[in-house]
Amino acid sequence: MPQHLTDSQKAWLSAELEQHARQLRAQLESHLHGQSRVDRANEVLHQDDDDASQRRPELAVAAALTDQEQVQLEAVAQALERLHSDRYGVCRTCGVAIPFDRLQVQPWATQCVPCAS
Ligand SMILES: [Zn+2]
Repeated sequence: MPQHLTDSQKAWLSAELEQHARQLRAQLESHLHGQSRVDRANEVLHQDDDDASQRRPELAVAAALTDQEQVQLEAVAQALERLHSDRYGVCRTCGVAIPFDRLQVQPWATQCVPCAS
């Protein structure tokens, strides 16, 4: 377990990450309408040309949002895994302990402020 964080700090971070993961999954569900992205793309592309040309920007926006959410969800899931090991809260670049006040703002942070900027 991370050495520089107290049990209550870790519990807080864990709850924060779990909540964030739930939100992201709900957002992904609503953007995908319960379908895989490939199914959704096929559905849109197989509609009438007029209709499809109107719908493509909407699909592009939904796909971009979905990509962002998937990347974010992956970061959150990895942070939760790290939280149960001794690798959490340690800068992956320089190895310093990331301060709790930074983790409060960004519990999935993998770098300290100097390395991230
Ligand atoms: Zn660093």
